[in-house]
Amino acid sequence: MTKRDKRYVIIGNGVAGTTAAETLRKLDPNCGIHMLTNEPYPLYNRVSLPRFLQGVIGEQKVMMHDFAWHEQRAIHLVTESMVTGVATEERVVVTDRGEHLPYDALLVATGGWANPLRVPGAEETKHIYNFVTLDDARTIIARMQESRTAVAYGGSFIAYELCDGFARRKLDTTWIMRGPWWLRTCLDRDGGEVVDTIARKFGVEVIHSDEMEAVVPRHGVPGYVKTKKGHQIQADLIGVGLGISLNTAILEQAPVQVRKGILVNEYLEANVPGVYAAGDVAEFFDPTIVQHHIMGTWDNALAHGRIAGANMAGGHQAYVAVPTYTSPLFDVNIAVIGTAESNNPEVEQIARREPGEKGHENYRKLFFRENKLVGVLMIGSPKGRKKLVEVVKSQQLIETAAEREALLTLK
Ligand SMILES: Cc1cc2nc3c(=O)[nH]c(=O)nc-3n(C[C@H](O)[C@H](O)[C@H](O)COP(=O)(O)OP(=O)(O)OC[C@H]3O[C@@H](n4cnc5c(N)ncnc54)[C@H](O)[C@@H]3O)c2cc1C
Repeated sequence: MTKRDKRYVIIGNGVAGTTAAETLRKLDPNCGIHMLTNEPYPLYNRVSLPRFLQGVIGEQKVMMHDFAWHEQRAIHLVTESMVTGVATEERVVVTDRGEHLPYDALLVATGGWANPLRVPGAEETKHIYNFVTLDDARTIIARMQESRTAVAYGGSFIAYELCDGFARRKLDTTWIMRGPWWLRTCLDRDGGEVVDTIARKFGVEVIHSDEMEAVVPRHGVPGYVKTKKGHQIQADLIGVGLGISLNTAILEQAPVQVRKGILVNEYLEANVPGVYAAGDVAEFFDPTIVQHHIMGTWDNALAHGRIAGANMAGGHQAYVAVPTYTSPLFDVNIAVIGTAESNNPEVEQIARREPGEKGHENYRKLFFRENKLVGVLMIGSPKGRKKLVEVVKSQQLIETAAEREALLTLK
């Protein structure tokens, strides 16, 4: 490296960080790239973890890159290294190994840690798991193989993925959620019913509007779970999906603006020169809805990685993609496009429920803001998804009830 070569540091080697590193290498063949992660692995696909958990794919299908991939691109990947702080004035990143890494531009792509279960009995009981990392998946699989009963706890995607994994591995599965239905920030009662029916067909017992009060251990492993409404549910293991807390703590001593996530503009730049954020941890300005928001999806993190890499290398690209999330939902699909917020009073919503394939129902919900389609949620048939993404992207005015109804049935 000559004196004039740029030094880039990337914290986090998920899809956002790794894509940024790859982009930087393409745009700047001589630069130095350091990518740090506390995990022991090169990039793996978190989206594949549920299928690994279910036993549908093996671990090799989860891995995306090996160490050689990084060496070939002269991306210096440092695993099992936790960043503890950033001195933005001196432009230096500090790790728990005592390293001090200087940078010209820094990308924070640290995602989030899963929130643990905090109820009496939980701390002293084994076999209570979050589900975010490859190591989580490995540990849960090992425990599933010696278990008969399981509880999944939570009302969002991760709890559902756990529940699906338990049910497919033929464990007696109970799914407890605090909300009146699954995904309460996007769905409504009707959509919730559609999901419950699918889950019950898979043999899952679903409990709504209830909370875990305590875990009652037997010899250090879960005996049963007690809920506030008086249920007592036997569980050999407990899977917890109670959201994630974004990993912003490393910036506590830095003058970088942080709200829920790291606040960045549409170029993914923070308020401090040379600092960028991408992926789950970025609270980014979205020109489509003229607001900052957070989006915990693979496609969003990947696209952020590309834009952040390009801009760190001297570009000036804005992030204007429509975020999408697609996932299997037991044996159907769910897709979320754009921003689907049921609780936002500024957003108008319409929904439709109709018979679908495999004896299930299709459910579609549309979200409008200032007469523009800003979000879509689809359960069941994915037909029409691509066209709806285009409508969200186009920002066209959709003013009449007939136009809106047409979008509900668009195939
Ligand atoms: C089980 C599961 C299923 C999912 N399914 C889907 C799906 O179907 N569709 C979809 O769109 N999305 C899905 N997601 C979400 C998607 O995987 C994430 O949005 C995406 O992976 C985020 O990528 P990222 O690069 O922003 O962060 P991450 O992948 O979280 O990577 C951040 C990395 O930074 C590391 N790190 C954090 N702090 C530090 C530090 N201080 N020092 C060093 N390293 C640090 C972390 O350990 C981690 O390795 C799923 C997520 C999970 C967990």
